[in-house]
Amino acid sequence: MTETSQLQAGRWPLHTKIFVGLLVGVAFGLIANIGGSRLGADLSNNGLADWIEIAIYWAEGVGQVFLRLMFMVVLPLVFSALSLAVVEIGDPAHLGRVGLRTIGFVCVLSITAVLLGVGLVNLIQPGKAVSVEQRERLEARFAKSAGDKEEKAKKSKPIRDTIIDMLPENPLQEAVGALDGSSKGNGMLAVMFFAIVVGLSCAARPVECRPLVELLGAFSAVSMIVIEFAMKLAPYGAGCLVFAISAQLGLEMLTALFWFAAVAILGLAIQMFVVYSLVLRATTGESPLSFFNNISEAIFLAFGTSSSSATLPTSIRVAETNLHLPPKIANFVLTVGATGNQNGTALFEGVVILFLAQVLGINLSLADQLQVVLMASLAGIGTAGVPGGSIPMIVLVMQSVGIPAGSIAIILGVDRLLDMCRTVVNVTGDLVIAKCVSHLCPDDAPVTAGHSSASE
Ligand code: ASP
Repeated sequence: MTETSQLQAGRWPLHTKIFVGLLVGVAFGLIANIGGSRLGADLSNNGLADWIEIAIYWAEGVGQVFLRLMFMVVLPLVFSALSLAVVEIGDPAHLGRVGLRTIGFVCVLSITAVLLGVGLVNLIQPGKAVSVEQRERLEARFAKSAGDKEEKAKKSKPIRDTIIDMLPENPLQEAVGALDGSSKGNGMLAVMFFAIVVGLSCAARPVECRPLVELLGAFSAVSMIVIEFAMKLAPYGAGCLVFAISAQLGLEMLTALFWFAAVAILGLAIQMFVVYSLVLRATTGESPLSFFNNISEAIFLAFGTSSSSATLPTSIRVAETNLHLPPKIANFVLTVGATGNQNGTALFEGVVILFLAQVLGINLSLADQLQVVLMASLAGIGTAGVPGGSIPMIVLVMQSVGIPAGSIAIILGVDRLLDMCRTVVNVTGDLVIAKCVSHLCPDDAPVTAGHSSASE
């Protein structure tokens, strides 16, 4: 049993409880979906009985309460954990080594992921399995939400401004819109940049800045206490969220998009179990099996919440307590990774774009496909770690290679299911990088006073 598990009171460790919650949620959701359309007299727009709609409504409510308990501390945690990590790493040369290695892993893993996705779509050709009638039905059903996503994508800026906006003009304004993408600049990336600047300044003048470092340590500790409480609700919250999704998903949708979903899941599975295992083994020599076992709580939570940001506190905790990574490396790599490294999302973006091109009969040349690889890898870096955070980015990349934005509607029906799977890969990727970077950057510098690590 892992140390995190031992912390849990009761008969079952937390990761088992979350797993059971997810299983129960999916089982009831599927029963509701299949039975709900037959048992009820009054069917809603979704073809479900009214009482199932009410159950979904309340299950979503419970799930949202759980998600909000996690989201409410994401910002204070990202800010305090990242700036403290920078203070603790202290020496700019060491920080540079950690930063560069992190960036190196992010680039390699993101590009591998997109190449994998694009390669599988070319090989299996899932787009050919969707008939014209199925395509039209899906487009009509999700046209409204596709329009909303297109609007969001239109607000995106040229690359020059994106880089400038990494430097926040007003960090508070960026923080306000960091989770829902409504900030003026780059949202979470800008907040992270500010946190690094604050951390570097504190490291440069440790005596003068000591009170601030202590305050940041207290913020980090408070965030972890709130998360500890929220995690007690995780089996129920995550179970309710997957109940609502599987009850709404509908088997018709899954049949029409079966091959698309199968290719995406196959690619994600290869990235998770083959690519990550090879990287781990080659870099650290650690057994991938024990690694996955140690991080299982973060894996189940990522699946249940579809959010890297909501999973961040748990990732930090398992990294410190189960993987025994130094808090400064875990804090730095994982907070940066939750927004800056999304391999599963990058892979998914590649799959979606090539799949839609196949469905619509658009021929993408090798140059177009290379552009997709490059853009999807970059888009994975800036995507908000929230459910559906990647959709506006996907629309952007689609437009750049001439795929009509509205056709995103075709895949929206199964997006949430695939979001759960890609978030697992995103979170696992962050933990793989944290493990590898800490192995490659051993450092015995003493921990700066004022920072209580997440697990303390
Ligand atoms: N839900 C994903 C995450 O939080 C982002 C996405 O792919 O939409 O990592």
